[in-house]
Amino acid sequence: MLSLDQIQAVFNSSAIPTALFSPSADPVFIAVNNAFLQISTRSREELLGTRLFAAFDAPGSPADDPRVALRDSIAEAIRSGTPQTMPAQHYPIRVRQPDGSEVVEERYWNAVNAPVFDAAGQLIFILHYTLDISEQVKAQEQQRTTTELYSKLIESMDDGFCIVDIRYDEDGKPVDYRFLDINPAFEAQTGLVNARGKYVRELVPGLTDTHWAELYSSVALTGKPLRLAEEPSPIGRWFNIYATRVGDPALGKVAVLFNDVTESRRTRDDLRSLANDLARENRRKTEFLATLAHELRNPLAPIRTGLDLLRLSGATPPARIHDMMERQLGQLVHLIDDLLDIARINSGKVELKRERVVLRDAIATAVETAQPQIQAAGHTLDLSIPDTPLLLHADPTRLAQVFSNLLTNAAKYTPAGGRIGVRVEHDGRSVRVAITDTGIGIPAEALSEVFEMFNQVSRNMGRAQGGLGIGLALVRGLVEMHGGAVHAESAGEGQGSSFVVELPLAGALPDAQAPQPASAGDASPGRRLKVLVADDNIDAAHTIMALLQLDGHAVDVVHDGRRALERARTGSYELAILDIGMPGLDGYEVAAALRADSACRQTYLVALTGWGSEGDRARARAAGFDAHLTKPAGSAEIKRLLAHLPANAAGR
Ligand code: ADP
Repeated sequence: MLSLDQIQAVFNSSAIPTALFSPSADPVFIAVNNAFLQISTRSREELLGTRLFAAFDAPGSPADDPRVALRDSIAEAIRSGTPQTMPAQHYPIRVRQPDGSEVVEERYWNAVNAPVFDAAGQLIFILHYTLDISEQVKAQEQQRTTTELYSKLIESMDDGFCIVDIRYDEDGKPVDYRFLDINPAFEAQTGLVNARGKYVRELVPGLTDTHWAELYSSVALTGKPLRLAEEPSPIGRWFNIYATRVGDPALGKVAVLFNDVTESRRTRDDLRSLANDLARENRRKTEFLATLAHELRNPLAPIRTGLDLLRLSGATPPARIHDMMERQLGQLVHLIDDLLDIARINSGKVELKRERVVLRDAIATAVETAQPQIQAAGHTLDLSIPDTPLLLHADPTRLAQVFSNLLTNAAKYTPAGGRIGVRVEHDGRSVRVAITDTGIGIPAEALSEVFEMFNQVSRNMGRAQGGLGIGLALVRGLVEMHGGAVHAESAGEGQGSSFVVELPLAGALPDAQAPQPASAGDASPGRRLKVLVADDNIDAAHTIMALLQLDGHAVDVVHDGRRALERARTGSYELAILDIGMPGLDGYEVAAALRADSACRQTYLVALTGWGSEGDRARARAAGFDAHLTKPAGSAEIKRLLAHLPANAAGR
């Protein structure tokens, strides 16, 4: 048997806060254990003999005074004679800190009031013990808050959300699925009304496709989340979808988060097709430019040749008129060349023929080209170029074209008697060429735009010397192809302009420069050739014929490919000049046929075309042509051709 002291010791050391009250409606503390003292922050002396409801203050308003529930529970225990478990009570307590101060801690208690009877069945105490359930309550509270937060989030989302479970047929094949739960956005996203609790086949009559049931079933069975982008759905719209298994795996429920991307998909498709249209449009523009230039070039050929002929034949139009015509023609050819160049640059067809170029030489060529315009306007030209030869890895013709365009502009946009300067500076790695004038200047807002194609500063419109607005676009294209950059500077209207070209230098100058290769073979002057000219442009064919005849060659002319082939096969020509774009057979086909024919293998074949790119030349070579003549072919070009004709042409 335990002694009373031992029982007291057990009571006191129990970790469960426990008190004994007198069994009355207004109970008095009879005994308290240490754990109770600890949570009540009272001493035994303070409590023993004290009335329970006087011992503690009401923590808040009378409405949520926990003592009321305690009083009721004790009263019920006395009345019923059975233990009463109180609902969880929020009862903050004061906790004494090590420094003696007190803080209030939020606590939740689960208290039991049990009546204790003696052997005679007399009620002697109320045993009150309390369990601190603060941690559980707080955890539950937190869980509830989190759950609430998630439900709020899912409810307020624009994305659709649902939880589905899958229906299988007797063979275990997934055939349908039901929307167990949905969020408010579900309806807006799917257009399915009152879907909660319904199967998709009920909602979409006529649906037999089990694709989606299978997808969800695989998520339910494997637990592997599914992510789908722009998936077509049974309701004819596209969705981005995330599906994942939720809850007990055995139940196989799947949560699906989705949003309708039909519109954005459409917008993107529209944008894509718009971009395609624009690209097509741009291509068409470029092609148009090329065609325009090509077509313009064709009639120029006979005009130029005609002029040459006039001079060569000794007919004497007034020199002034002749010069003027040549000048205008030159201008026209220049414009067309620019057009053709810009079209080629835009379509990436320009091929640079790079070599080591001395910058000074390129500038000298450019000055030579622009000189007539500079002189005509009475401008003075100052050149400031360092003595050291600056080497570039560049296409000499294109480089000269860049500087001559800038010099011509400087001359054009500077009132008579101005100054034009060319200043070259370098830092060992790159070179800076500034072409400066004292002309009309460029307003700040137009500085970057002048390089755009077809862009002209509006006040130039109507100026007799305004071009097509492609010179600077060409300059920029060519400079950039050389790995450089160009920009314009001007202090404003009437303040002159400066165009600065920056280009990378190509290392040091070698000790001895390789001599230029001597020009190729020389035609023996006075040699009489038998020539066939084939061109569907009758004037062009005849002017070339006339030019050749002036030199005493025997020339036959035909105007289509088939006839060209017939004549060439039978005529044993030493030279055949064949237009590429002819009806029937084109020039390439004629050349290929002639090369295959042993009787004509010796004929020197020259392609005549408006197109002069490296690609065209390569194609002409592949077809069997020996040389290439770009239209308009004037007397100079024909002379050069004849000069390069191998001495043993037709006997090669
Ligand atoms: P274009 O001279 O054929 O009009 P460009 O592309 O060469 O075309 O030049 C575009 C525009 O830039 C010109 O129309 C002119 O307004 C302006 N511009 C070019 N060079 C100069 C310059 N040196 N001074 C003033 N304006 C210039």
